Amino acid sequence: MDISIILTYRCDSKCSMCYIWKNPTLPNEEVTLKTLEKLPNHFDNLNITGGEPTARTDLADIVDLLYPKGKITEISTNGLHTDKVLPIIKKHPNIKVRYSLEAIGEKNNLIRGEENGFEKKLEGLKTLKENGGTDLGFATVIQDDNIDELMNIYRLSRDMGVEMATSTLHNAFQFHKSDNYFYERKKVAKEVEKLIQALLKTSSVKNWFRAYLNLGLIEKILGHDRLITCTAASDFIFVDPWSDVYACNVRPDLLMGNLEKQSWDEIVHGKKADEIRSKVAQCTQNCWMVTTARTAMRNPALTFLPKLGPLGWVMLNKLKVTLGKNICFENYIDYEKIEPSNKEAKREFYLGTTTKRNIQSKTEKHYKMGDFFNR
Ligand code: SF4
Repeated sequence: MDISIILTYRCDSKCSMCYIWKNPTLPNEEVTLKTLEKLPNHFDNLNITGGEPTARTDLADIVDLLYPKGKITEISTNGLHTDKVLPIIKKHPNIKVRYSLEAIGEKNNLIRGEENGFEKKLEGLKTLKENGGTDLGFATVIQDDNIDELMNIYRLSRDMGVEMATSTLHNAFQFHKSDNYFYERKKVAKEVEKLIQALLKTSSVKNWFRAYLNLGLIEKILGHDRLITCTAASDFIFVDPWSDVYACNVRPDLLMGNLEKQSWDEIVHGKKADEIRSKVAQCTQNCWMVTTARTAMRNPALTFLPKLGPLGWVMLNKLKVTLGKNICFENYIDYEKIEPSNKEAKREFYLGTTTKRNIQSKTEKHYKMGDFFNR
């Protein structure tokens, strides 16, 4: 169904919850147009991301190549380089563009280590809208440091007429980081309830299912099991900047093959792929990454339709909210059982700092993560 392609691990943001920027790739080792040509033409969602994808000087050519391969093509960017995205939007106005935004004003800049980041993103998204962009929005990583801003970002998005996508803190090889813990799980989860309620009040079907996605985020925040079994390697796949293909963007041991050296069919239909799929079936990480959560919510036979579980939840709770009632979250979420928080593991902020970078090259083992858990 879905694919995420990490074009580069270069990035000019300095986020506290993602250390991609500390571990950049070398430009001459990054996945090429020739390799990307091998991808088939049948994806539902094709996400072009990073690192910061606008760091690639050939981004416009890559988008031209990949655009026909996905029903929905998305660019996930830090939003600091609208000049690079604007020509793409002028050519393909329906490309989905998400600008990362963690808070209003200086707090965004602190969490993401960006000089004037908030102002640039706001202006940038307005420019894309004025130039015909039809699927624009912000993407927010819900965490203790921005939880008081969650509804402010929602209201800002609504007032600007753009979307708001949410995810939450994870430990994952993609972030080159394994200490993304919550400090106050219940406080964070309770704020997400307000967002769910607000999303269900809108007339957007997309928002109603986003509400369910956020219900899954609450489970993740509290350290509970996933709402729906993961189908990574069957319905989702992840390509890193070295053309390595993984089942998902969390576990570095789920390597399926290399798109530069192998064909697509060899990678997805080979014996190795079967082994990886059985590892996915036994996976005990309780992640709820947007990538694999969005995939798991959909019906594998008719992928434009949801599975019965999310559909039933959405119908029931949309009806409740329409009738002016509150959602009974306690019917779905066990607030008595919350994993311990880790108040000691405070995330550092890097705004204005110069931090030594560990340039990654093909000669190194890429993801030196050790064991980690998403609980
Ligand atoms: S549940 Fe396991 S296999 Fe699925 S995305 Fe999470 S870490 Fe990967």
